[in-house]
Amino acid sequence: MLTDSFVYNSAPLRVRFAAGALGHLGDEIAAIGGARALILSTPYQKADAEALAARIGPRAAGVFAEARMHTPVETTALALQAYADSGADCIVSYGGGSTIGLGKAIAWRNDAPHLVVATTYAGSEVTDILGETEDRVKTTRRDPRIRPEAVIYDPQLTLGLPVAMSVASGLNAIAHAVEGLYATDANPVTSLMAVEGIAALQHALPGIHRNPSDLAARSEALYGSWLCGTVLGSVAMALHHKLCHTLGGALDLPHAETHAILLPHTVAFNAVAAAAALEPAARLFGGDLGGGLYDLARSLGAPTALRDLGVSRDELGRIADQAVKNPYANPREVTQDGVLALLEAAWAGIRPARI
Ligand code: NAD
Repeated sequence: MLTDSFVYNSAPLRVRFAAGALGHLGDEIAAIGGARALILSTPYQKADAEALAARIGPRAAGVFAEARMHTPVETTALALQAYADSGADCIVSYGGGSTIGLGKAIAWRNDAPHLVVATTYAGSEVTDILGETEDRVKTTRRDPRIRPEAVIYDPQLTLGLPVAMSVASGLNAIAHAVEGLYATDANPVTSLMAVEGIAALQHALPGIHRNPSDLAARSEALYGSWLCGTVLGSVAMALHHKLCHTLGGALDLPHAETHAILLPHTVAFNAVAAAAALEPAARLFGGDLGGGLYDLARSLGAPTALRDLGVSRDELGRIADQAVKNPYANPREVTQDGVLALLEAAWAGIRPARI
């Protein structure tokens, strides 16, 4: 595709990618200018975080293992205190988007260097975006200072990511790339990364589904998630992310699964208006991106219907109202009727028709 005009910005970020890359954790802490790191994780990954601290000895100032989904401000307050008490001068986030969100919240407020050891495919480790929740309201901000300084991708650390989470998280990553293709500020570099990222995940996820310990498939998925996350962190998202944000906030739905269910439907909604931008991705799915993504999700056992997440059909009108409240760029005009029809199809889990 020829591109007439674009603006391209690249952000500095160091990435170390290898099976076994975690062995370089101490070097990477030094590379971001840190001496003693506070290590963050969720309660579920606490034992891993403590093992990490033991591995780096004096470079670890402590472990705070209370990260929660959607970065509640109460947790951030506790973590800020732990950071101050520990005498740390940098942050290591070990985990997925929830832990990374907490790491960003602390690093941003302290202007501290932040190294992420990424263990899901959500992509937050390479973005300048921070979502924080107060009184059940999630506020999202973008600031270049939010982006971590460095990332370790070690596919060995993802071997234990349960298949259902791997699939949902991988589809979440694909959603970043799909919306990046038709972003108003898309450019040739982000579009290349988007298509490469989608192809990597399309190929890797069935391999993980067959054998979660397949290191080659895990490597390819992590590579794809890095590319898709970079797209998310580079260009503006549209209807799909807006709807997931609205649904997640209003109904407290699981983040990655909501993305996985909605994606085929938001793609179908925008398919005609964004046909040229989506064409390279559609080609990966035999020309039918919405249907192809739906089939991929189904073949991997991912949820495909909002009703399976416990969403009541009566809620859909309210969600559609909220989603059209504040205008934002999207290839196709976003109307209450259009969004409601999209949500009805996603609620029932109907395969989008080929367009
Ligand atoms: P998560 O971080 O909430 O992780 C889910 C669970 O899986 C946690 O218990 C975690 O400890 C566990 N886990 C993570 N990696 C594991 C592994 N390798 N093996 C075993 N268990 C593992 O899930 P997520 O989908 O990565 O993140 C979701 C959150 O991230 C949401 O709050 C979302 O809004 C946010 N997010 C932010 C951005 C951004 O750019 N700011 C991007 C994507 C997602």
